[in-house]
Amino acid sequence: MGSVTISTKKEIKEKVVSAKKALTSWKETGINGRVKILSKALEEFKKHQEEMAQLITQEMGMAIKLSRDEIGWDFDYWQWFLDNAEKILSDEIIFEDEKTVHKQIYEPIGVVGAITPWNLPFDLFVWAVVPNLLVGNVVIFKTSEECPLSGKLFEKIMDQLGLPKGVFSEIYGDGKVGEMLVNQDVDLIWFTGSSKVGKKLYEIAGKKFIKAVLELGGSNPGIVFEDVNVDKIVDKLYSKRFGFCGQTCDALKRLLVQESIFDEVVKKLTKRVEKTVVGQPEEEKTDMGPLVAKRQLDLLKDQVADAVKKGAKVITGGKEPSGLKGAYYLPTILTNIKDNMRVWQEEVFWPVLAIRKFKTEEEAIKLANDSVYGLGALVFTENKERAQGVARALQTGTVEINSASHWLPCNPFGGYKQSGMGREHGINGLRELCQIKVISEEK
Ligand code: NAD
Repeated sequence: MGSVTISTKKEIKEKVVSAKKALTSWKETGINGRVKILSKALEEFKKHQEEMAQLITQEMGMAIKLSRDEIGWDFDYWQWFLDNAEKILSDEIIFEDEKTVHKQIYEPIGVVGAITPWNLPFDLFVWAVVPNLLVGNVVIFKTSEECPLSGKLFEKIMDQLGLPKGVFSEIYGDGKVGEMLVNQDVDLIWFTGSSKVGKKLYEIAGKKFIKAVLELGGSNPGIVFEDVNVDKIVDKLYSKRFGFCGQTCDALKRLLVQESIFDEVVKKLTKRVEKTVVGQPEEEKTDMGPLVAKRQLDLLKDQVADAVKKGAKVITGGKEPSGLKGAYYLPTILTNIKDNMRVWQEEVFWPVLAIRKFKTEEEAIKLANDSVYGLGALVFTENKERAQGVARALQTGTVEINSASHWLPCNPFGGYKQSGMGREHGINGLRELCQIKVISEEK
């Protein structure tokens, strides 16, 4: 489809030096100036909406209708940051009496090394770059080696804005290049990706004594209690697991269903899953394209084989579709899940759903929390009091009750346990990227 040149250590070093030089003038541009520049940038990106959607679809196999959806939401996020940054970053008087006034102010941290995965290329570009630039940080951005051409297009559009040299730049390559970046003189590591890589970066940050904001993997549980109307929730369960070919951090990855309605949920969800149109991602009717790469398909097959070997039952899917060439896999439901299965213990980053029975609320909470991850969770029940109690007992950064649509730019997003450190989005997300200074003064 195209080519990019992998960045060398020398080039990365030069970009970091240039970024350091740009810091003062970017800070002095002030929040008003930065909002103006990034508003212009948003308008420029909007002109390329369809081009970006087509490229993302070709490059990573996302069904075209979903690529368009993704870009639309990202524009909403971008707009929210523009509308709210000034208010969120304004000086705040935190204490005042007759003699003194104490102010809290938000300052940029400095040069950010931002590294992202491939699963939602434009989302991750917007979330990594826009808030950081708004708070006054300068950014060196590395997209994933699985979607370098999308990264190249984002860079081309950014270049048209005439930003001062060093405020924003991109580098290309795999993990080795990412490691070269964080080992340079950066002041903040902003990383979204797997928990395995996140841990490595946290170690590097520790040695350098710099901050790392880490948005990592997830194994989100969903708990379905017997008082729900199953027909009302089937679509939510379906989209939360199988949307985007199951390749999202925040997808539903382990479903827990109370035993009296277990068979009904499995039956109805299977019916819905079997309606999925798996096909060429460029076709408008396609719901699910291929996985991003063959290596992901191999990992998926290993996890499913491990589950089947240990007694899991394949209710639907469990194989590649016939007649399609590439990393395709049918959306799959597995039952008879046990603790020792990889689909229970590891992140399942593809369209495979493990469903497990529970008897009591206590058991459901225990099973839901039985994970090294803690990104998000879902609870379905008509009992509002119980829903609130369970939500508070779950060890996750987000809990959705009877809903599968918490994605709002004002909601801070991040995880407990190995799902991350720090938050993005919302008030907390912007302030996470700042140094907080207190200025106390006698009147
Ligand atoms: P990954 O961790 O393999 O790679 C992510 C990025 O890190 C890529 O750009 C890669 O080149 C780079 N990288 C790899 N090794 C590195 C190293 N040693 N030093 C520096 N950079 C390195 O993840 P992936 O397979 O691209 O993406 C899938 C993962 O991302 C899943 O675990 C998913 O849950 C997670 N994810 C999390 C969120 C979130 O917001 N929490 C969002 C999207 C994806």
